[in-house]
Amino acid sequence: MKKIILLLITVLNLLPVNAYEIAFPQEKELTLPYNGIFFVGKVNKKENLWINDVKVQPTKNGSFASTFQLNPGENIFVVTNRKNGDEFSKYTINYSKTNNVDSKLLEFSTQDCKTVVDNVILRKTPEDFGINRLGYLPKNTDLQITGIQNEFSRVYLNPNLSAWVLSKDIIPEQREIATVGEFRGESINSDNFADVYTYKFSKNLPYSVIFDKNMLDITVYNVENRTDEKFNSKLSLKPPYCYSVKMKDGDLNVSVPKMNLNNPKIIIDAGHGGKEPGAVGCMSDLEKDMNLKAAKALRRELKSRNYNVLMTRNSDKYVSLKDRVNYTRDKKGVIFVSLHMNSVPESADPNTHKGTETYYYNDFSKLLASSIQGNLTKSLGTRDNGVKQASFAVIRPTEYVGVLVETVFMVNPEDVAIYKSKDYFKKVSIGVSDGVDKYLQELN
Ligand SMILES: [Zn+2]
Repeated sequence: MKKIILLLITVLNLLPVNAYEIAFPQEKELTLPYNGIFFVGKVNKKENLWINDVKVQPTKNGSFASTFQLNPGENIFVVTNRKNGDEFSKYTINYSKTNNVDSKLLEFSTQDCKTVVDNVILRKTPEDFGINRLGYLPKNTDLQITGIQNEFSRVYLNPNLSAWVLSKDIIPEQREIATVGEFRGESINSDNFADVYTYKFSKNLPYSVIFDKNMLDITVYNVENRTDEKFNSKLSLKPPYCYSVKMKDGDLNVSVPKMNLNNPKIIIDAGHGGKEPGAVGCMSDLEKDMNLKAAKALRRELKSRNYNVLMTRNSDKYVSLKDRVNYTRDKKGVIFVSLHMNSVPESADPNTHKGTETYYYNDFSKLLASSIQGNLTKSLGTRDNGVKQASFAVIRPTEYVGVLVETVFMVNPEDVAIYKSKDYFKKVSIGVSDGVDKYLQELN
């Protein structure tokens, strides 16, 4: 009996219990549209790990990232502790090319249509991404459609200008109608909270609102008896240049809030949460947990600097992007900072992606993005990847100054060492807070 137990203990010791951990891929079977994949995870000290015939090279803290080419079809990856060793685990990764068929523009003579839902996005280009939004049209806005490309319909604005809406958001008009409307005057209403400019039209019409050099350029199309059938107005905005626009029952309302820049309300947004883990790090940390810890540290730091701070979540719960935006609007947040950690697509090499980047969408948020980016990279000692413009839902609204921070890459072994250091959260909180301080100094 003793012998058997001894033997059992010996066998158990030989088993690779916790010798390594693979954080990604999380599934043993996967189909990808790219011709590459990475494995990230950790290896315990003194242990060896092989993936097929490649020996894993962990960094000092044990984290690693290895990349592999994929052949079309099935690719098998066997994880072992020595070359040609016994299989610990097996991954089957299928690479299947997707055919990107770019369909041509189908042009036709004008077809009268109307929107069937609210908030139909009018876009500069027929793409469901990028910086191409011109305005948001309410239900029952009359439009003239002159072509179709992929899932988009082309909207006639004037002889020199077209825009695009999703075809599923419109239906053809059943009767012969005039798509043009008339301008019926404008007014201004002011109170303690906002100046509201109202432009009256006989019905809902397509419009665009563009912020450029502290000015708001408002254009309404298909307006009768106007040059090029368009109505135009320009408003000069004051810092921090926030505004909101709504077309309803033929009224285009542009509200310019009066914001308190001496004690602005700051909303901290810990990315992901609950059922949505976000990225996974080499050491199997979940982005949602890291973001929440960073957010709490940032709240502490900002409060110590006497700021008025709120959080979109302060526990591990799921909050939709829409709810994060609505919360910030309802609470009249002036500054919105979303905290995230970065990852890379499965086909990229995690070893070459490291550092900090800060995103903005509206041009007036760029100053805050630059200020946070500069101070955060200084505080963390990370590579400065610069500020970038991107269409993320939480930073798109124009009612507040919004940025999204990607502090470090969770799958880059060098960045892992940074986020695993014990003062990481403190450094994030100081970097972002210094950025907010500097932004407000420059604005005032
Ligand atoms: Zn994220």
